[in-house]
Amino acid sequence: MEFEASLAHSAQCLKKAVPLMVKYAIPVTPMNYAIWYCYVSGSQPALNQELDATIAHLATCPPHVARRLFDRYLSERDLALFHELSGSFHGAISTVQGDIAKTLETAQDYSAVLAECYAGLYNIKRNNVESFDGVLNYVERLTAESITMQQEAFSFQKKLEFAYQEITELREALLDSQIQASIDKLTGLYNRGKFDEDVVHFCQSFTDLKQAALIFIDVDHFKSLNDTFGHQTGDETLKKIAAKISRQTEGKGAAYRYGGEEFCILACFSSVGEAVNFVQLLRQDISKLSVKNKEQNKAVHPITASFGMAFVKVDMDKSELIAKADKALYLAKTHGRDRVEIA
Ligand code: GH3
Ligand code: MG
Ligand code: MG
Repeated sequence: MEFEASLAHSAQCLKKAVPLMVKYAIPVTPMNYAIWYCYVSGSQPALNQELDATIAHLATCPPHVARRLFDRYLSERDLALFHELSGSFHGAISTVQGDIAKTLETAQDYSAVLAECYAGLYNIKRNNVESFDGVLNYVERLTAESITMQQEAFSFQKKLEFAYQEITELREALLDSQIQASIDKLTGLYNRGKFDEDVVHFCQSFTDLKQAALIFIDVDHFKSLNDTFGHQTGDETLKKIAAKISRQTEGKGAAYRYGGEEFCILACFSSVGEAVNFVQLLRQDISKLSVKNKEQNKAVHPITASFGMAFVKVDMDKSELIAKADKALYLAKTHGRDRVEIA
């Protein structure tokens, strides 16, 4: 697929793609964006057909279908091109705006020179009316034309300023939807998708100077809490636990909702001891949380969670790190819950 080079066409496609992605709850990842950009540009009718059928059937486009569409109709080159295109929007518009401002200045200079000539010629005219009348008419016409030119350049600049503002708003909307796409709606923590992205870089961040840890957290007996107090109280409990995890993690790393009643943290510590203290304190803080069920006028009790922690080692990949933390969490559960296990 070739991306249309014209700025106006590209801006139009970007403007159409974003609302569609929002409508069908498509995460704004570069891959999805490339697919939907291609969709609205209509350059690959077969892609449009498949995407239409998927939307008609599922009301969204799940990640595995998006991957298949991308592999079939687009290429990594398109992705790179797309990045380049969206990144160069601001630069391109700024340059054009700068050029127009210069043109306007030139036009103003031109007008001043003409006015000067006009005055000079007028003086001559006063001395010799017959021979300079034709010249004066000619200069009058030029002056009028130069004013028109100035007005046109000015209105062109206004149009460009408007386009600049539109594209700035578009970029902000895009950035905002990208942020929204990585947030879990119930808890406000980062979601699983964001974790899957972050954990890859996190594994590459190994140094001897710090301990990079993955901490899995699973709320204990949450099903029975739901059964006893209802789903809504269950949700309230998840929100409170998430808020506690988020506050404690601030400045140390990032917190995620891994799924259901499971959370995780990617954080760095100066030593294993500091990491263990951090998790133990978080465990205690969660066990002190109080949530009230309003209907039954009863405190939800007890609220506890189990923790599994693993540290990034040299050449460790994400699957290995996740498996280790997961195994540690499993041990915490089998060893009685409300406890921390380290891989
Ligand atoms: P364990 O101590 O072994 O972890 O037991 P558990 O009951 O916490 O684990 P289990 O996996 O059996 O149950 C998890 C429950 O979490 C089941 C599901 O209904 C509930 N759950 C998952 N997501 C949500 C949610 O968003 N809100 C509420 N209220 N409940 C949820
Ligand atoms: Mg669980
Ligand atoms: Mg659980």
